[in-house]
Amino acid sequence: MQFLAADELHGRGSATRDEHLAALYAASLFAGFGLEPGGDQNTFLQKAPISLQQLPQRTQKRLQRFEDVPRTETWNVVGILRGSDAKTQQDAILLTAHLDHLGIGPAVNGDSIYNGADDDASGTTAVIELARTLSRGKRPKRTILFVLFGSEELGGPGNKYFLEHSPVPLDHIAVNLEFEMIGRPDPAVPAGQLWLTGFERSNLGPELVKHGAHLVADPHPKEEFFQRSDNYALAQRGIVAQTISSFGLHQDYHRPSDELSKIDFNYMTTVIESMVKPVSWLADTDWKPAWTAGGKP
Ligand SMILES: [Zn+2]
Repeated sequence: MQFLAADELHGRGSATRDEHLAALYAASLFAGFGLEPGGDQNTFLQKAPISLQQLPQRTQKRLQRFEDVPRTETWNVVGILRGSDAKTQQDAILLTAHLDHLGIGPAVNGDSIYNGADDDASGTTAVIELARTLSRGKRPKRTILFVLFGSEELGGPGNKYFLEHSPVPLDHIAVNLEFEMIGRPDPAVPAGQLWLTGFERSNLGPELVKHGAHLVADPHPKEEFFQRSDNYALAQRGIVAQTISSFGLHQDYHRPSDELSKIDFNYMTTVIESMVKPVSWLADTDWKPAWTAGGKP
């Protein structure tokens, strides 16, 4: 996380060299864990083309600030932990976060680097640490896909590309959990808890809680977070896809002050650890979550 959110990485601007470096870094970790590559040509990276003309004017302008843009691609990282059971391994659970952030932008108090420590180096770290832990233990029956998306902050071209190029057919992806902004506790929920967007939309949250997850309903329904992350595009394709977060609407959101110094590492470590057991259970069962009546977007 110190690497991802370091000033030297210039805030991992979407579709920049810095985002690519972050992707290469995560890919090298996935390789070290012994995961199977799920990207292009037997690598961990998936190159997704983006058309700058299709981006909103405001975003195009922002991209012009980078020394090395315009670029016409973004990068996803895809690692596979193949399930152990000959039949059940055809089904996968998908754990995701987004690699990119806002890059370099207008200075606030002399700081122009939008580090994105909470958004979303924290979620990226959660996916990396779950990959590290789960690749060490006994192989689960189902396959686990660990995927880090590029360019979420541009509206998700990385994630859209993944949907067309998933190493596991979409109808075999039983569930997607996206990790977004878990670096600081949310004072709106009890200590040590995370929240799940769209909690009432499916039976996933309650079932994870039964298996030890410290998860509650999203306390900020007005913010419509269920619709605001990479999970949404997957949910629209029918996959039960929900986001885990503890974003307490802090003032550092999308500002240069979203830095490592604001991260509560004790909290973050505890909550990532708290997900190991429920995620291991989810990977080792053939139970499939379902939308509740009216819950499917
Ligand atoms: Zn984010």
